[in-house]
Amino acid sequence: MTSVIKLGLVGFGKIARDQHLPAIAATEGIELVAVASRHNQAEGLRNYAEVQDMLAAEPALDAVVMCQPPQARFEAAEQALAAGKHVFLEKPPGATISEVEALIALAQQKGVTLFASWHSRYAPGVAKARAWLEARTLRRASIAWKEDVRHWHPGQAWIFEAGGFGVFDPGINALSILTEVVRDPILVAKAELEVPANRAAPIAAKLALKTVKGAPIAAELDFRQTGPQTWDIWIETDRGEARLSEGGAKLAIDGVAQDCEPEGEYPAMYRRFVDLVRHRRGDVDLAPLRLVADAFLSGHFRSTDPFED
Ligand code: NAP
Repeated sequence: MTSVIKLGLVGFGKIARDQHLPAIAATEGIELVAVASRHNQAEGLRNYAEVQDMLAAEPALDAVVMCQPPQARFEAAEQALAAGKHVFLEKPPGATISEVEALIALAQQKGVTLFASWHSRYAPGVAKARAWLEARTLRRASIAWKEDVRHWHPGQAWIFEAGGFGVFDPGINALSILTEVVRDPILVAKAELEVPANRAAPIAAKLALKTVKGAPIAAELDFRQTGPQTWDIWIETDRGEARLSEGGAKLAIDGVAQDCEPEGEYPAMYRRFVDLVRHRRGDVDLAPLRLVADAFLSGHFRSTDPFED
């Protein structure tokens, strides 16, 4: 297929508006033609309330981009794949691993692309950090991912509901970078999760991870951070140390700032999606989601102060 890939988008919320719309507009070979969103409408496009209405009315769609919260992702993705459409999943790719595995099987059966996007992996410092670490031995690493949920997720009640991931909604971005940069498999050794008394998902978590070779990785995730916001990963090796900061946008090696491209995570993801669709290939890495699932499976849960928006 060399013609323009016609896209539908489901869930016209914050990330669809802030990132997907401009990234699609900036990417050659794709065009957004329709949106399915229950309460929101996109100006200048054909709008539908439900994904099945969009699929029925828009047979020429080639692909569908899923921007709903993870709890609402599976059925819509299943319908789009069943209709023979390529599917782009926002992160996290689903609310559970089984869901995503079912989507992988369906995409293979239908011969279409399924892309589980991990936007933080496209942050400018990440590929450089991965290349730097490749020639070194990891000694230890640590993650501090601390942000103010009131500032970044106003009115997003789903985030503290079951399946909304709580602080792991941003935290999984750190884990997506970690699992991209560190090639050895990573295990959850210990997890402590704090859940507000009036909510279902954690507001903070401390993880003790380790690689299969025994290198310890500590992670602190917190949604209660006011003041400076922190999205940092430190990596210590046998030959020097690296620090990824601002969510992977900046990289310093042995204290020296490295030249990094300007931020461009979403355009880079769409270029990747176009390439996958053109070559009829899929890309679904479950490693970050598996670490979150393992933290929930093995973690100690502690009730903490109620959270009010
Ligand atoms: P959002 O602002 O709440 O938008 C999601 C949209 O999905 C809503 O506006 C809603 O539109 C639709 N939706 C469908 N089913 C829903 C349900 N059961 N509950 C709530 N909304 C539902 O959320 P967002 O920030 O765009 O995040 C969406 C996804 O993008 C999440 O997986 C998130 O992790 C990911 N993401 C977000 C950011 C960010 O900075 N916000 C960054 C990267 C990735 P209708 O009511 O009109 O259907």
